[in-house]
Amino acid sequence: TEFVTAQEVATMMGVSTTEIISACMSLGIMVTMNQRLDAETLSIVADEFGFEVEFVTADLEEAIEEREDAPEDLKPRAPIVTVMGHVDHGKTSLLDYIREENVIAGESGGITQHIGAYAVSLDGGQKITFLDTPGHEAFTAMRARGAQVTDIAIIVIAADDDIMPQTREAISHAQAAGVPIVFAINKVDKPTANPEKIKEGLANMNLLVEDWGGKIQSQDISAKTGQGVNELLEKVLLEAEMLDLKANPDKLASGTVVEAFLDKGRGYVSTVLVQGGTLKIGDYVLAGTCSGKVKAMQDERGKIVREAGPSSPISILGLDGAPQAGDKFNVLEDEKEAKQIAAKRSQLLREQSVRTQRHITLDEIGRRI
Ligand code: GDP
Ligand code: MG
Repeated sequence: TEFVTAQEVATMMGVSTTEIISACMSLGIMVTMNQRLDAETLSIVADEFGFEVEFVTADLEEAIEEREDAPEDLKPRAPIVTVMGHVDHGKTSLLDYIREENVIAGESGGITQHIGAYAVSLDGGQKITFLDTPGHEAFTAMRARGAQVTDIAIIVIAADDDIMPQTREAISHAQAAGVPIVFAINKVDKPTANPEKIKEGLANMNLLVEDWGGKIQSQDISAKTGQGVNELLEKVLLEAEMLDLKANPDKLASGTVVEAFLDKGRGYVSTVLVQGGTLKIGDYVLAGTCSGKVKAMQDERGKIVREAGPSSPISILGLDGAPQAGDKFNVLEDEKEAKQIAAKRSQLLREQSVRTQRHITLDEIGRRI
């Protein structure tokens, strides 16, 4: 990371920019006045003038550094599941079937809001949270931003088709993320379905499912008739049990942004997944380059809730912008601090994009010549 420009550091120390530039030059570093200096250069240069550098950005970000939880504070939490697979193999159909069939027992109304994630309760009372983002692009986008939200991946493969490029891609994404896979061999209601062929194909890729003497779970399903879906969810729960998923609900919340948009009437609506702690109304949230006080929270059933614990998907109102999918969110004690960090991050991002643009322009010119 680079911090302030040569000119800015000159102003801070009350010396001329030329002096900074020549100090850098004597260190063998060529800089221009608008160039940002990295931490090491800054420290050395400041030292030359008898100053000590304090990295305020780092200090600010320290406010959101999470402490490790004591084992006794950890409570079991629901698994967070992503459904991936080749186009048309039945991801949406499966998610829709689960959403429609598994409405929390005794709770009025089904899932009415599309908020990018939803939680279902099974007969045994266990919960599963599904990330319901279009395709697996969201998963990849989130992964690219360093967000690790998925505990288990369901990879859907149509039994009347083959193991396709996007199937392989999904498998390698899950493997790269260290996320266990449960295969859903779909469309078994079709006369042309051949689940054994798919399992054989997986075996050829060194992925041995249980029927083939391996350890990877798989379930034949029909997202159309619902055949095998409960069994699939039970296998997901079994996988979750082995992962022994836990989180500390008794602290300020943190987690990941699933999606965010601007609603004409309500302002910015952000769906977040709480991963640690409990999010409450009135909390000061920092999410990427946005911040704000949580004014209202709503679950996927449109129900107003006052707090949301680990593994809960929740849609919140009150941020001053739309953070990006995959951005981390944190609750801070201090509203001002949240604002400051958000502002600092936007500034860095802006400057980065300005520099990138300039770079591209120079490049273009070079090519034209
Ligand atoms: P996605 O692209 O992976 O989200 O796939 P969709 O869920 O949109 O399904 C693609 C097509 O396959 C749709 O026409 C579905 O109705 C159909 N489909 C999905 N699951 C099944 C199934 O289990 N059986 C049958 N017969 N058709 C299915
Ligand atoms: Mg789809």
